[in-house]
Amino acid sequence: MLLAAGAALAAGAIVHGALHRNSPVFGRTVSALPRELAGRVWLTFDDGPNPVATPRVLDALAECGVMATFFVLGRHAERWPELVRRVADAGHQLGNHGWSHRKLHLRSPRFVREDLRRGTDAIADACGVRPRLFRAPHGFRAPWVTAIAAGLGQRTVGWSLGVWDSDRPGADVIARRAVSGLRSRGILLLHDGDGYDPAGDREQTARALPAIVAGIRDKGLEFAVLPPA
Ligand SMILES: [Zn+2]
Repeated sequence: MLLAAGAALAAGAIVHGALHRNSPVFGRTVSALPRELAGRVWLTFDDGPNPVATPRVLDALAECGVMATFFVLGRHAERWPELVRRVADAGHQLGNHGWSHRKLHLRSPRFVREDLRRGTDAIADACGVRPRLFRAPHGFRAPWVTAIAAGLGQRTVGWSLGVWDSDRPGADVIARRAVSGLRSRGILLLHDGDGYDPAGDREQTARALPAIVAGIRDKGLEFAVLPPA
């Protein structure tokens, strides 16, 4: 009985480690801004670049005077390297989101290493920046993912709040969820691209940004990205 309970606990820990983006079971992830950045929140965008949404997101961030992090997908970066350059030139931080957007929790070390390396190279080839951060597609990780990212010089980043902007619930709903859910040191997950469809529609996310920024500032919070370690 005890053994069975122990086995169930161990199995539970493994599932948590594989499927929860902030779980420490398979290696430490960044799940909040550091304490010295209390009063700040961190905007992050996954799955870009996207030919329509990324320029609109960049324009909105510039108008609001906010810096963010873009976890770029390698195969989209290879298709639109000029957009990756635009992100870098605007002073935003670049992170690696791998190349293929395959879920990594059931993949071999060899697959993971190759996918993360190709993603890194796509960003470096586009804009000369070698990313120092990594975020796993869907936050899913095999036990070796965080270590492989670390081997590339990349800290693995989770998030504290997702607002399901990929489901396109309306820009006002996206903004409301973000503003009501974000707390000091929180990490907001948004999407300027689609992990599968290169032309996926992320117009609502771009349109929600001015209201997100204004609402967060009304709560007395400001914006920051993770400082380099
Ligand atoms: Zn993604």
